[in-house]
Amino acid sequence: MALQIDLSALKANYRALAGKAPGARSAAVVKADGYGLGAGLVARALAEEGATDFFVALASEARALREALGQGPRIFVLSGHMAGADLGDAIPVLNSPEQYFRDRAIRPGRGFAIQLDTGMNRLGFEPGEWAALKAEILAAGPELVMSHLACADEPEHPMNRRQLAAFRAMTEGVTVPLSFAATGGILLGPEYHFDITRPGVGLYGGMPFADARPVLRLSLPVIQVREVAPGETVGYSNTWAAERPTRVATLAAGYADGLHRTLSSDGQRPRIDLFAGDIRCPILGRVSMDLITADVSALADVPDELDLICPQQPVDAVAEAMGTIGYEVLTGLGRRYPRQTV
Ligand SMILES: *Cc1c(COP(=O)(O)O)cnc(C)c1O
Repeated sequence: MALQIDLSALKANYRALAGKAPGARSAAVVKADGYGLGAGLVARALAEEGATDFFVALASEARALREALGQGPRIFVLSGHMAGADLGDAIPVLNSPEQYFRDRAIRPGRGFAIQLDTGMNRLGFEPGEWAALKAEILAAGPELVMSHLACADEPEHPMNRRQLAAFRAMTEGVTVPLSFAATGGILLGPEYHFDITRPGVGLYGGMPFADARPVLRLSLPVIQVREVAPGETVGYSNTWAAERPTRVATLAAGYADGLHRTLSSDGQRPRIDLFAGDIRCPILGRVSMDLITADVSALADVPDELDLICPQQPVDAVAEAMGTIGYEVLTGLGRRYPRQTV
């Protein structure tokens, strides 16, 4: 069982997204352990490609990333300065007056950034809070001022322009670098780019970056193969029964590895396939904690491993079958798969 990470594809995606915003510098978002791929691994590769700014969610992630990257690159913490946080040399993205005053009291003179809420109502200074403190905060010299789009994966959504107008209004006269666009925002066009872009999912081959090169291959080892006769059932609760002689493989991965139980077949009807090259092997029966079963009748020889995530079935296809988005599939990939680079 292995998760293969194609670092040249990761680097190509970074270059491609940077190339779409030529007036901006491209940071890299590596929160949630580099979207499940391994933050140190992907960040080192992206640093080789020229990335000097990295974003994580938590101070603990920043400390681990500093170990992996060494001195030099800036590491921003999106949750800002939470009470008791050990930020080390990371740069907190301060999200509220409370965080700002806490940070200045504890870390006077140290680097910080500011997040503004332009309508998403998740993190950031409200317009009124910002208006009251803007002059004082700018005088303290933030490293950047940023906001985040709620609907950037829907280019026609009116929220995009509303947030852009709000960001422009709140940053009028601000001369420090501005950052607004994640993957979706980069694809919205130059008005959204400002000085520093913050791609995450597109680096890892996920939507909405449709032109991304696939970065991941998830191969699952075959433990056992058996012939199942018509009328026999497979797996928990007998949800799948053979209608014809069927060769069934049992593979070593399950919902404990992030392969949701929603990938179970819908009775007789498979929801998703494993792949042996281009040949489809439908998953049948229930996904168990550590095991899944697939119909390998189409294979003359059953290989040692079958692929779940591969160019024939990218991460967003798996996400659709799970009823979720590529982000959740990536960040849910279990720790039992060794990460291998190719
Ligand atoms: C996660 C995140 C990003 C990266 O978003 P993608 O859609 O994965 O590119 C950028 N900025 C903020 C504030 C985020 O939370």
